[in-house]
Amino acid sequence: MKNIQKNLKVEKLEKEKRNLLKNIEPFLNNTIRGTFQIWYQVCARKSCKCHQSKKYQHGPYLRISYFKGGRTHHIYIPSEKEKIAERCCKNYQKVWSGIEKISQINIKLLKIKNGKRK
Ligand SMILES: [Zn+2]
Repeated sequence: MKNIQKNLKVEKLEKEKRNLLKNIEPFLNNTIRGTFQIWYQVCARKSCKCHQSKKYQHGPYLRISYFKGGRTHHIYIPSEKEKIAERCCKNYQKVWSGIEKISQINIKLLKIKNGKRK
């Protein structure tokens, strides 16, 4: 690839990266790495009717589950915080997806700078 073409390509990729960064930046402040779940529970009392049928299970409970330190953690979410909790988990997906795209661009940039890309 000629130098001018190479520079244009690099410029285009750098611009893409700046846009991706701009797009994920608003979500960074409210992000939680976890899965938002609506959860029903069977209790420990064997005589409770929650053991008979799904429709008697306790809940719904709202929770976020996440994996850390080799195990899964759950945090229970009060119903008034359902929307923010759900949004934080979705934000993480947006941030992560942006990081993936930036990573792919950085790989392309390395290839260009190494002269391995046509
Ligand atoms: Zn029960």
